[in-house]
Amino acid sequence: MKKDICPSDPYAWIEDSLDTIRRANWYRSVQTILSLPGADVVMDGKVMLNFASNDYLGLAGDPRLQEAAIAATRSYGTGSTGSRLLSGHRALHCQLEAAIARLKQTDDALVFSSGYLANLGTICALVGKRDLILGDRYNHSSLKSGAIASGATVIEYTHCGVADLQQHLQQHRAAHRHCLILTDSVFSMDGDICPLPEILEIAADFGCMVLVDEAHATGVLGATGAGVVEHLGCTGKPLIQMGTLSKALGSLGGYVAGSASLIDFLRNRAPSWIYTTALSPADTAAALAAIQIVQAEPQRRQQLWDNVQALRSSLALGDRQQASSPLASELAPVPILCFPLPDAATALKLSETLHQAGIFAPAIRPPTVPTSRIRITVMATHQPTHLAHLVATMKAGMEHQT
Ligand SMILES: *Cc1c(COP(=O)(O)O)cnc(C)c1O
Repeated sequence: MKKDICPSDPYAWIEDSLDTIRRANWYRSVQTILSLPGADVVMDGKVMLNFASNDYLGLAGDPRLQEAAIAATRSYGTGSTGSRLLSGHRALHCQLEAAIARLKQTDDALVFSSGYLANLGTICALVGKRDLILGDRYNHSSLKSGAIASGATVIEYTHCGVADLQQHLQQHRAAHRHCLILTDSVFSMDGDICPLPEILEIAADFGCMVLVDEAHATGVLGATGAGVVEHLGCTGKPLIQMGTLSKALGSLGGYVAGSASLIDFLRNRAPSWIYTTALSPADTAAALAAIQIVQAEPQRRQQLWDNVQALRSSLALGDRQQASSPLASELAPVPILCFPLPDAATALKLSETLHQAGIFAPAIRPPTVPTSRIRITVMATHQPTHLAHLVATMKAGMEHQT
């Protein structure tokens, strides 16, 4: 190629692109935590109240999970050395899968190396070119990426829009072979819950599979911590339940739970399970210990709800923003509370105010979400003084804005 039509530095556009990201206030960087995970953490040499963690039950620093991980490492080493189908499979994986299937009341379950990979591999295994995917517009990135990677025709329906979903199916279902409906159960950036019973009804009418992503609900919602499927009385319905071991279960990895034939099929057809190294012994053992705690200690869930209710009522009461309903998750029993803000700069400013008051609660901005917000995640291990400090600082911060 001629020199004059080729850029002299083919990587130069990356720096330009970063500049654009910075100008839009979309630039992100990492924050270092120097302590065990928990309701308070050490950052920058300062103790910070942590309202940014997905460790809803406070298990990620629990000594029992640590001990389980250490014991598994001593017995089986640090790495699993291969994919499950080659040298990576251990009895611990089977034990964890059986525990997940028991919790979910499904025939079987399969653990992946992350929730992201569970979604990617499952969607790609189940649908392809001749098929149709209908996904909630606010679905998690891993569901969206899986949908695109599958090669299926992808249509997004309005957030929790049952009528819109139905309309798309009326229009497009007949022209496709399989159809898969994808939805978060608890929406990670909004904290609301999908209308699962209605979605299942429509799915039955149109002959569709349903995959529900329980990442933020596993261990948290439902009488036994099985998730939104249990919370909404859909246990035993024909659906594909996926979730993560990395949030309330305090470990790392993802899972899919469902019928024996579904799981058997995924072991043969999910590329992100077949062609990746098996979950490490430490992660597997920690997740297994966490599931046992979730089932044996329902009081952790109760404490979490008490904290969510307390925070919700004190943040809404007397708040000048009450009219515009600052809490998207008003009625749903979920530990994610969102404060919508007019733009990225305002969200960053409030996040900074919180930071200066010793509170870690991030501004979530485009492109992660369509509109900027402060996202607060609640833990069972937050103390009343923690909640009070957050409420006081939020209120003062909002007053300052105008
Ligand atoms: C976190 C998350 C995932 C990904 O799970 P990882 O185990 O962290 O990869 C998938 N879906 C949703 C809704 C999530 O919030």
